[in-house]
Order: sequence, then C-alpha cells, then structure tokens
Amino acid sequence: MSGDFSGKRVLLTGGSRGIGRATVLEFAKRGANVAFTYASSAESAEAVRVEAETYGVTAMAIQSDVSDFEAAKALVASVKEAFGGIDVLVNNAGIVRDKLILQMTESDWDEVMQTNLKGVFNITKHVAGVMVKQRKGRIVNIGSISGVAGFVGQTNYSASKAALGGFTKALSNELGRRNVTCVTLALGVVETDMTSGLPVEYLAKMVERVALRRPASTAEIARIIVNFASEEMEYVNGQVVLVDGGTGI
Ligand code: NAP
Repeated sequence: MSGDFSGKRVLLTGGSRGIGRATVLEFAKRGANVAFTYASSAESAEAVRVEAETYGVTAMAIQSDVSDFEAAKALVASVKEAFGGIDVLVNNAGIVRDKLILQMTESDWDEVMQTNLKGVFNITKHVAGVMVKQRKGRIVNIGSISGVAGFVGQTNYSASKAALGGFTKALSNELGRRNVTCVTLALGVVETDMTSGLPVEYLAKMVERVALRRPASTAEIARIIVNFASEEMEYVNGQVVLVDGGTGI
C-alpha cells in the first residue's frame, strides 16, 4: 500500500520536539518502528516515545549528541541490533545560533557546523554501512531555504544547510549502485521552537514571501518527509527539493 511503512525500521535524529517529533509520530502512525535521538529533552522524548507506541509499533528514544562521532557509531550499532537493520534515516537534528557576521563568535560558527553538518556526516557514515550491506536504504536530510537564499544573521546556518546539497549529490552518486538513495528537503518557515524565538516582525516578513501566506505546521511537514522517505519516491535522488509553500527562491 502506498505510504504504508509496516515493519520498516526508521532512525531519526532530533525527535523530541518540533518537526522531528511530528515525523516520529507520522512514521509510527504508518506502521514503522522508530528509533530517535535527542540532545537533552529527556522528558519530551519519553512522551514522544510513549505516544508513538500507541500506534502499536516499537519506539526508542535515545540520548545521543549527533556532533559526537563515537556516540553516533554506538547509536547506529545499537539501533541495528535492536531492529535488525535500518531502512530509513532522517537527519533532522539542527540548531541555530543567529548573529550578524560582525557579532558572530567562533563558537556560534563551530556549534552550528558541528551539529548541522558534521552531525549529518557522523550518523550517515555509520548508517551507510548498514544500508550498503542491505543493498537498500533511503536517507532524507532536513535542509532549509536559508541554505539556498542565504538569510541575514545566518552565515553559519546557511552555510551548514547549503553544504547538505553537495553532500547529498556526492552520497547519491556513491551509493546509488547499492540501491541507497538520498534527498535533501529545504524547508521554509515551520512553526516550532526554532522559529518562535525569532522577532515577530522578522517572522511576519518571512511569511509575507510565502505564496500561501502562512508558515507550515509540523504535521504537514512530517507527512511530506515521510512521503519522501517512501520507496515510491526513490527516483527523486541526489536533489535538494524546496518545501516552502512557494517563496519563489
Ligand atoms: P527544534 O524544534 O529546535 O528541535 C530540534 C531537535 O533537534 C530537538 O529534538 C533537539 O533535541 C534536537 N537536537 C538539537 N541538537 C542536537 C544534537 N546535537 N544531537 C541530537 N539532537 C539534537 O527544531 P525544528 O524547528 O523542529 O527543526 C528541525 C530541523 O528542521 C532542523 O534541522 C532545522 O534546521 C530544520 N528547519 C527548520 C525550519 C523551521 O522553520 N522550524 C525551517 C527550515 C529547516 P533536544 O530537544 O534534546 O534539544
């Protein structure tokens, strides 16, 4: 059945809040067993795990910092052992440290790169080994239109998200012959903790650029992510796809 993930094994980073949380629940609703990570929100992660299991699947919430290479290795090994394999990886964990370049500190730059870019390498490197052996797998990276348009105050974040485009192309070229595919979804404005911290006028201006004149909800983005993770979409490979309600970028 189209959109059915019964028996599929999913690993998603950053599932305790926002887009990741909604995506864990959407996968679970469609029958997938889901392992997801979080950085520090243990209580919310446990609540997501419990809610996901109401759909009759197995859900695992694991504290694991994506920026830690050894932790990523251990995480992937434990998920592989628990599920027997990994069919879908969603690299969702991400942070912002917005500042104009003149104010941006070295740690603002490093933290964003370590999480948003190195984190994707850390997890994908280990999951790729599992998927290549299976001769099957789907990787969905969560990018941003900031990586395409380049927003003021986000030189670090825009650079980290733009880099996912090159990563996705190279990875799909390497792994395609093993039937492992990869796509990056460049999201527009989505209502989460990440955007609730933005100045109201700035957010209003961003939404004004959207043809639909509204931000996306986490639930609708989750449906799109899960659809892109499905086998039906595997020929969309090595691309950055804009999911932004129509910004004309
Ligand atoms: P969010 O609400 O701030 O949630 C971020 C999630 O990532 C949380 O689960 C957080 O865990 C986890 N996380 C952060 N750093 C981590 C680390 N080092 N290791 C493991 N997990 C970590 O963010 P969101 O808005 O849902 O964003 C999700 C993704 O979408 C990000 O990649 C973001 O860049 C991208 N995106 C968002 C928007 C938007 O408008 N919201 C637009 C474009 C792209 P804790 O709860 O433990 O902190």
